[in-house]
Amino acid sequence: MALSDFSRYPLLFGPSPVHPLERLTEHLGGARIWAKREDCNSGLAFGGNKTRKLEYLVPDALAQGATHLVSIGGVQSNHTRQVAAVAAKLGLKARLVQESWVDWPDSVNDRVGNILLSRIMGAEVELVQAGFGIGFKESWENALEEIRSAGGVPYAIPAGASDHRLGGLGFANWADEVAQQEAELGIFFDTIIVCSVTGSTHAGMIAGFAGQSRPRRVLGIDASAKIDETRAQVEKIARNTAELIDLGRELRDDEITVLEGWAGDYYGIPVQSTLDAMRLTGGLEGVIIDPVYEGKSMAGLIDLVRTGVIDRDSDVLYAHLGGQPAINAYSALFPR
Ligand SMILES: *Cc1c(COP(=O)(O)O)cnc(C)c1O
Repeated sequence: MALSDFSRYPLLFGPSPVHPLERLTEHLGGARIWAKREDCNSGLAFGGNKTRKLEYLVPDALAQGATHLVSIGGVQSNHTRQVAAVAAKLGLKARLVQESWVDWPDSVNDRVGNILLSRIMGAEVELVQAGFGIGFKESWENALEEIRSAGGVPYAIPAGASDHRLGGLGFANWADEVAQQEAELGIFFDTIIVCSVTGSTHAGMIAGFAGQSRPRRVLGIDASAKIDETRAQVEKIARNTAELIDLGRELRDDEITVLEGWAGDYYGIPVQSTLDAMRLTGGLEGVIIDPVYEGKSMAGLIDLVRTGVIDRDSDVLYAHLGGQPAINAYSALFPR
């Protein structure tokens, strides 16, 4: 099956905006930097990359007669907030398992930002003590079982919608969208920068771009601080997605690149380069990035340009994947 043969339930405004970051480009002194904005891709609770992935999961959920979307994430998960929004839009219930992935002492961490938005949208939110991980969990199995025994039909969406057969399709489609926008703009982005944690955003892009005639670099920046796991996950999902959309060849190892160096020691805990990237992008462009994901991938982009790994003549596309609501739980990083 080609990508266009898969059902897609529209949740986005349309193609997400692409625009140049002129002052950041000037500041770095080369490599023309553009952004593609998944942070404003939808009218559903601020959108983000998970909303795009869910376009391909929703038809499957509806076909199964789901009554509940069930998912899992950290307390400040952007993903579960987007699942809550999609459930509301479809008239389904959302059941969210929120685990303690991040040891972050902000006193309102479990009250503001993403979790607040999920509560407003009517999701059933369950706080659970369990550490960072992207596997299937006991608390999650319990949630599914509870819904079943009450006569409901749960549709299970794993963390980040990644470890799901259809999880890579949304960003394979993103690759096609980029190619169309490039044709309209008369530009070719030779390097893509994307944050990678549960993996299907980067993996979907890899599979999607692999089907295009002109090669380019799709560089994932790890923000999980567990580089081996991230690499393995991206590779697995990229290969599965490539097969699913009939790429017609195996992906080469050199098409799968996840870089480390900007995650710090822990998922969800920013380091100095994260904060510098947040201030720089905010101060030069008025573009807000978060301390969990995008601040880390932007820190990577900045260093790769400064060190010449991305050269001065490159046209770089930075995938802004969203995530700003979590900033409300990180006020301590920017004291008075
Ligand atoms: C989930 C998320 C990511 C990482 O995407 P994966 O598909 O999980 O690798 C990056 N940025 C933001 C804002 C996210 O919410």
